[in-house]
Amino acid sequence: MVRAEGVRKSFGRLDVLKGIDLTVRTGQVCCLLGPSGSGKSTFLRCINHLEKIDGGRLTVDGVPVGYREHGGRLYELREREVAEHRRSIGMVFQRFNLFPHLTALENVIEAPLRVARRRRAEVSEEARELLDRVGLADRAGHHPAQLSGGQQQRVAIARALAMKPRLMLFDEPTSALDPELVGDVLDVMRSLADDGMTMVVVTHEIGFAREVADTAVFMDEGVVVEAGAPQDVLTDPRQDRTRAFLSKVL
Ligand code: ADP
Ligand code: MG
Repeated sequence: MVRAEGVRKSFGRLDVLKGIDLTVRTGQVCCLLGPSGSGKSTFLRCINHLEKIDGGRLTVDGVPVGYREHGGRLYELREREVAEHRRSIGMVFQRFNLFPHLTALENVIEAPLRVARRRRAEVSEEARELLDRVGLADRAGHHPAQLSGGQQQRVAIARALAMKPRLMLFDEPTSALDPELVGDVLDVMRSLADDGMTMVVVTHEIGFAREVADTAVFMDEGVVVEAGAPQDVLTDPRQDRTRAFLSKVL
């Protein structure tokens, strides 16, 4: 589903991604860990067309991100094509980014209505099912300010799912939450994984990564330091940098 080969990204003279190699197979969960500033968010943003890569090759579901292949040549995607690609990718951020003036239900139906231009009745019914799936069937009419951080984050997950993505990206989805609210969000993510969703999750929840991830990837300073099965990378890492990081977050 995601294949990165030597992906590079710089901001001016700052090399943020220095050749990332990473593969996420369909139906698998990849957890990305690493110190602040190591390039994790930038990498997710590249996958989701929010940043353009400067080198290497990045494909989602076989399609090059940012470029179109035609007759053996690469062409930069037009805005409309980028929008189309992005529709198949759901993203959940640390901050929930819900529309404050809309209810939970309205937040979930916003993109299917306006971006996909689907019928309100049909979309509303799906949205209720999604809110039920994230444990918020009884909160459909609440505004974000009336919901806890954990509930808002679950609405954000439902909202991302409403576009029926093939791939879900999570960028530290529980980092901004009070500790007692983290579990419910992780439970929703775990059930998504159980249902076979392909997911790339930036997280420092080592327990979640050990239990749910098919692969764990440790990044530092724009490179993949170590990648493999979570029981290796997170329990018995080979690299000193991975070990040092884990001893700090555990
Ligand atoms: P992480 O998510 O691992 O903490 P980021 O991908 O957010 O790391 O950032 C990696 C580096 O890139 C940091 O040094 C950050 O300051 C820098 N960076 C990120 N986005 C931009 C940007 N839009 N312009 C300039 N520098 C950026
Ligand atoms: Mg980040």
